[in-house]
Amino acid sequence: MRLRPRSSRAAWLAFVILGVASLGCDGRTAPPWRPPDVVMISIDTLRADHLPTYGYARPTAPHIDAWARQALVFDRAYSEAPHTLPSHASLFTGLYPSRHGVLERGDTLAPSVATIAEMLGGHRYRTAAFVNCYFLGPDARIMRGFTHFDADYGGTDLSAQRDAGTTNEAVFAWADGLVGDEPYFLFVLYFDLHSDWEGLPYHAPEPFRSRFVREPPETYRSGDGTLSATAYLSHLNQNRIRLDAEDLRYLRDLYDASIAYTDAQVGALLDGLDRRGRLRDAIVVVTADHGEEFQDHGKLPEMRGAPGPSCRGLETPTPGRTDALVQHVDVLPTLSECLGEPPPAGVQGQSFLGVFGGAPGPRTTAYFDTSLGYQRGVLRDGWKWLEDPPTGARQLYDLAADPRERRNLAKQDLERGAALAAELARHRAENEAARVASERVEVSPEVHEALEALGYLPASEEP
Ligand SMILES: [Zn+2]
Repeated sequence: MRLRPRSSRAAWLAFVILGVASLGCDGRTAPPWRPPDVVMISIDTLRADHLPTYGYARPTAPHIDAWARQALVFDRAYSEAPHTLPSHASLFTGLYPSRHGVLERGDTLAPSVATIAEMLGGHRYRTAAFVNCYFLGPDARIMRGFTHFDADYGGTDLSAQRDAGTTNEAVFAWADGLVGDEPYFLFVLYFDLHSDWEGLPYHAPEPFRSRFVREPPETYRSGDGTLSATAYLSHLNQNRIRLDAEDLRYLRDLYDASIAYTDAQVGALLDGLDRRGRLRDAIVVVTADHGEEFQDHGKLPEMRGAPGPSCRGLETPTPGRTDALVQHVDVLPTLSECLGEPPPAGVQGQSFLGVFGGAPGPRTTAYFDTSLGYQRGVLRDGWKWLEDPPTGARQLYDLAADPRERRNLAKQDLERGAALAAELARHRAENEAARVASERVEVSPEVHEALEALGYLPASEEP
């Protein structure tokens, strides 16, 4: 079995923590009500089953785990798309990819679609974004509404990309400039876990690398005999290497070391904001746009938690875990409800704010929805259906009996598969019919080449 580049991002479950640093005020009890600060951290390519919070045996993320213990953790939260741009576009707009239409570099968000930053900016939030991936550059316009936009990704030289620690320094410089008590919305994208480009195949500096990376297998060598994850992954993306157990172990070691590094930076970011007195009344969201594929078609649970959101009408929730089904599209309407207003017109997500007070989740069905030829699917009643358009493959999993998705039942339970396929087709047809018009912008040859190096444009059938 080969690791196919087109599915290398096919991890449908993202991971989210939603928490706050202190108990918030309720509009009914502590006038005048001040909107909560919002800190949103996106860790690109993080799969949650490599986190101790989700039972991973290796201590990859002690800081995130410590944070999660103060929070309400969501065990069933899913991203909508298996790659960076459409996934973040859904997070920021509350729309599914087949509705917002921002699927690949060159697509731009229609002016009629509101973003989280615009919504919060309308409530006089100071808004700032720090990103290290040009998928989230200004071209796509999904970052509309950020008055402070700090992007550093070395142009098309991805090896010059800013690491998480340097990103934090930029955030702190901005945070030191905050004055008074005005609320702020901070978005940070860490890109250190993204794998396959030259010079930076999982950013795993010491001491994290030594803690997790064991001896590499003999096959893990580039043409000149040096150890090179880059060369390896490059060959992998061209289907020139077959992975065996040792190969996979080494890749996972590198990945785990990168998680540990990023986790330390998440801890440093939260500590730094706390020291500045900027987490006292903040909702903190930590999420991933998609996971990573280690020859298992990708899976990545998502979690959210909140020890005490400062939201109108919400009492202090109890830390713990919930199995409420949620998706990234639900984040924007949740924040809208937190502000005491309806979500922008046309938003497809549903607020899960009530879950923090013990209410059931807002949805029974989750959709994995993209139009680039990647896998797509639907999850309902504990069953997950996946379609792979290029190959025509179909997969059906009983998540209760088979949480790691090892037994494909698509050929055993035809009736259930057909029902889920019909639901997915209905969802996609509805979205395509109402798809928001997006413009195309020119992509330079250099950027196109960089995207190919990342594994995003490996197949000729992709535009
Ligand atoms: Zn990504």
